Amino acid sequence: SLCFRNITKKYGDLTVVDDINLDIKSGEFFSLLGPSGSGKTTTLMMLAGFATPDAGQILLNEKDISQLSPQQRNLGMVFQNYALFPHMTVLDNVMFPLKVRKYSAKECQERAQWAIDLVRLSKYSKRLPKELSGGQQQRVALARAVVFHPEVVLMDEPLGALDKNLRYQMQMEIKELQRKLNMTVVFVTHDQEEAMNMSDRIAIMNNGKVEQLGGPKEVYESPRNVFAAGFLGEAN
Ligand code: ATP
Repeated sequence: SLCFRNITKKYGDLTVVDDINLDIKSGEFFSLLGPSGSGKTTTLMMLAGFATPDAGQILLNEKDISQLSPQQRNLGMVFQNYALFPHMTVLDNVMFPLKVRKYSAKECQERAQWAIDLVRLSKYSKRLPKELSGGQQQRVALARAVVFHPEVVLMDEPLGALDKNLRYQMQMEIKELQRKLNMTVVFVTHDQEEAMNMSDRIAIMNNGKVEQLGGPKEVYESPRNVFAAGFLGEAN
């Protein structure tokens, strides 16, 4: 499991994440949903190791990881702005995390091929990212994120650049992959429909706080406060 214990992050005088507690179960698809500026990305960055909390602990299977470097945490990442390497083929992109982790050449090949098959891009492994569609590029990013079997995969608006139909299709593909590999996914989005479609549980964030937490149905049907009611009501 993955636990945030009283995590606070400030930038100068601004408290961006305000004493949050989260318990994310292994194998759970967990979304952080909220408007722009609510602290979702900052929360994910602290999990990834790209930002350091000012207070609190982050525990992965009861072990405090908050002082470890991003690489030591061994988490997979798919970020909208965490692009593929443009000069590398699909295969080389997907092999990259394995090379960094010093797998043998044979293992790099085999594991990368496995991940590329998983996202159904076997025919495209020799292509460069620019020779792929947006959806295919996101599938390469997914393959790269899961190729080393991370326990947790972090996704920050991974589908933000895609059009509506493709977006729905990719939501289902990510969901299927998550179930198949039994991964824990922490997913950041400001799109409530996307969070509803994909999540086991949703934490609604506002002003650096978790305003509400529960399953999609629960969050949708029984808004616990004015903010949650207003934010979720926007779609109707
Ligand atoms: P969005 O959906 O727009 O990405 P978010 O919910 O992910 O929003 P954050 O990116 O976590 O929100 O930002 C929360 C607040 O922290 C914002 O007010 C932002 O301006 C501020 N902030 C984020 N990073 C920094 C930084 N490095 N220095 C100063 N302020 C920052």
